[in-house]
Amino acid sequence: MAGMTLFQKILAREIPATIVYEDDDCFAIKDINPQAPVHVLVIPKTVIPRVGDAVPADQATLGALLLAAGKISTQLGVNATDKGFRLVINHGRDAGETVPHMHVHLLAGRDLTWPPG
Ligand code: 5GP
Repeated sequence: MAGMTLFQKILAREIPATIVYEDDDCFAIKDINPQAPVHVLVIPKTVIPRVGDAVPADQATLGALLLAAGKISTQLGVNATDKGFRLVINHGRDAGETVPHMHVHLLAGRDLTWPPG
């Protein structure tokens, strides 16, 4: 387990989490500290530490993440223009990044203010 990221340990079922989606490229879990009624993390199985570290070889992985987020929004019943959802990627301290294994936050289920905090 040493050297694995938190999310790799969750994927390996070493740390419990509610996994709501999985495919060949990525998986999604319920956030342990939800910031909205729906708060899911969409995570690539291949570790990219943070989005600003991504390289051209990560292009397919990054695309797969957004496609999965769209599918998950449908699965969770928020893929409708009278509902809706927000995708967030935090990179670095100022953005509040805490887990250095890039992931997309999918937030929904309440009015999401703009600009974000
Ligand atoms: P970041 O701050 O890096 O953008 O997002 C990390 C997210 O992971 C946070 O929203 C945090 O609540 C979530 N998180 C941290 N530890 C765990 C855990 O053990 N299980 C789950 N399901 N989520 C976690």
